[in-house]
Amino acid sequence: MAGVLVLNATFEPLAVVPTRRAICLVLARKVEMLEASGRLVRSERLAVDEPSVVRLSRYVHVPYPKHRSPNRRGVLARDVHTCQYCGGMAETIDHVVPRSRGGCHTWDNVVAACRRCNGGKRDRLVGETTMRLARQPGPPPPSTWIEVAAGSVPTTWAPYLLDGRRSA
Ligand SMILES: [Zn+2]
Repeated sequence: MAGVLVLNATFEPLAVVPTRRAICLVLARKVEMLEASGRLVRSERLAVDEPSVVRLSRYVHVPYPKHRSPNRRGVLARDVHTCQYCGGMAETIDHVVPRSRGGCHTWDNVVAACRRCNGGKRDRLVGETTMRLARQPGPPPPSTWIEVAAGSVPTTWAPYLLDGRRSA
């Protein structure tokens, strides 16, 4: 159970909240329901559609955590669990410029990699191997953190999280 995706008034993904919290927001008319899960939630007095995606009625300004440093789950979510060297299933993160060669632990120097590529590259630069990067890494879009918070992305959320990188 992933919870409920909350969008800002501008449809920008903001957060994931527990279902009960989302129902309170719907009942208080602080949010409008965009997608229902298809299930009903019953309380003593009423039965309501269980929300899956809701949108705030009023815009809130949320500072985007630009300085959040990369972690494994975030990098894997940004790169859609795809090894940036061979296109296989990635389980690890690799420093493009190895830390032993002065590479930093920053978003533009970490990529998702499968164990084989990560182990094969060792402490070499990409140019010293026959490997090629699928694309230059960079800071993740905000929706990356939604995926990390939820653990998984229900199909009803997908249209609201699209930011082009899957079609890139
Ligand atoms: Zn690989």
